[in-house]
Amino acid sequence: MAPQEAFMRAPEQQPRRTLYTDAMEIFHRAADLIGLDPRVRLELEEPDYEHIFYVTAKLKDRLKPLSAEEAKQFGDLAVTQVRNPDGLELLADGQIILNGKALLGSDVTVRRGHLRLPNGGFYQLVPGESQRFKAYRVQHNQARGPYKGGIRYHREVSLDLFKALSAEMTWKTAIAEVPFGGGKGGIQIDPRAYGKEELEAITLRFMYKLKNLIGPNVDIPAPDVGTNGNIMALMLRQYMDGERERHNSRGVVTGKDVKIGGSEGRTAATGQGVAYCIEDFYEDRGESVKGKSFILQGFGNVGSHAAQILHKMGARLLAVNDADGTVFNGDGIDVAALIAHLNDPKNLKRSVLGFAGAQKIEKKDLWEIPADFLVPAALGGEITGEVAEKLKVKLVAEGANGPTTPEADRVLEKRGIDMIPDIIANAGGVTVSYYEWIQNKRMERWPESEVNKKLEHALKRNYRIIRDISRNQPRRTDFHDSTPYCIGREVDARCAAMILALKRIEAHYLLEGFSQ
Ligand code: NAD
Repeated sequence: MAPQEAFMRAPEQQPRRTLYTDAMEIFHRAADLIGLDPRVRLELEEPDYEHIFYVTAKLKDRLKPLSAEEAKQFGDLAVTQVRNPDGLELLADGQIILNGKALLGSDVTVRRGHLRLPNGGFYQLVPGESQRFKAYRVQHNQARGPYKGGIRYHREVSLDLFKALSAEMTWKTAIAEVPFGGGKGGIQIDPRAYGKEELEAITLRFMYKLKNLIGPNVDIPAPDVGTNGNIMALMLRQYMDGERERHNSRGVVTGKDVKIGGSEGRTAATGQGVAYCIEDFYEDRGESVKGKSFILQGFGNVGSHAAQILHKMGARLLAVNDADGTVFNGDGIDVAALIAHLNDPKNLKRSVLGFAGAQKIEKKDLWEIPADFLVPAALGGEITGEVAEKLKVKLVAEGANGPTTPEADRVLEKRGIDMIPDIIANAGGVTVSYYEWIQNKRMERWPESEVNKKLEHALKRNYRIIRDISRNQPRRTDFHDSTPYCIGREVDARCAAMILALKRIEAHYLLEGFSQ
């Protein structure tokens, strides 16, 4: 074959392992076990839509710190007097964004694009240029309702990852019994490397492009890793800009600040849900969370709230690992003090590192700390087969999405370590997102106690159904009914959760049929 011909020819499809195929292993196992309708299987095997688009933004001028070696040649440079220090925005990586007229009117001495600040540091002045970012929105399935799922800002994202995470949302919304399907998306960006106004510009542009694809009854984003209520507020404003009936659009994103239509209890909801599941796990065995010890990975939204609530329930936090390091205190970490450490304005990385109430240890040593349970609440794929072999806990409660690899699942099963799978353990976020969406639609506002009561009921009811499926123990009580879901044999907890999701989704296709 001529080289040009080979170039134009699409490569043959090879089955290869990806994050998505790994994530779908459990889908196939559960689908086989329940004899999922073949056409429903085809519908669910791949997402409905996979959107990739690009977002551009003009960055600001910034100062990049020089290494000691680089700085030597500028040792005699006069110090630049900064007259408006408020205009200097220090980033976690040591770079400084020049906002507004930060240096204007100051006594600025620049040599070959370099200057020296009163803090003693030498910097290279990098003029702000326009930059392009890759953005995604995967809409996995809408059989049960509008697509729903978070927006992630992170350096390591891909179509493959968002496919896996959006499918997870399809299963999770079915398990939580909220009338949504699954979606997920975000931007390939390290948000800590950009200033506040830059992130604002990038987010507005992102929503400008996303607007065609979503809507309060079509697809409803929420916060995920690297995003929060502030980002949701910007997305909301951009979506509503120029709309006539702005009040009808408030439910286009959830996870908003309560002051602009967010729900009480939403910020803590995912961590709260993790805690409710763990509480129910122990209650079922006639035990209590009180007095149990745990280790935690991730101290962001999910991890810090889960830690706070579990601490209040009487559990002892022994160690925390985040993106920057790991801290340990065998007597128990004071969670409130650790949160205060994170919120200290001097803690630019917002990391657990440097916390005075614990000692620094290596990440690899985290996994070997003996404790009652582990809550992974960071990124996916962290509990590998090798890590699972080392663990000295009796329970893993997945706060993060997909933290345990399929290989690790097999190891945990073999070692008799119990599992509360992500699609129930961290479903608290999407459940309260649903409450937020209803409150927006009805123009209502519910108190936190009501939100948490509903959340506890919803999660514990569905978690009990999952446990019954797992033990093949069909029961109908005042609280829950597992009789339609048990399959006549015992299965592991992750498979049981997937069976519950698939049976609920399949019912929609079987009863409503397929649109032609
Ligand atoms: P976040 O950005 O608030 O916090 C992420 C945490 O993970 C931070 O402490 C960060 O330092 C840590 N981290 C990042 N990379 C790491 C690494 N390589 N090793 C160790 N730690 C690392 O994010 P979040 O909203 O708390 O989400 C955490 C997890 O929970 C994600 O898997 C997310 O998909 C899942 N989740 C979040 C929600 C929600 O409502 N926010 C809901 C369901 C599931």
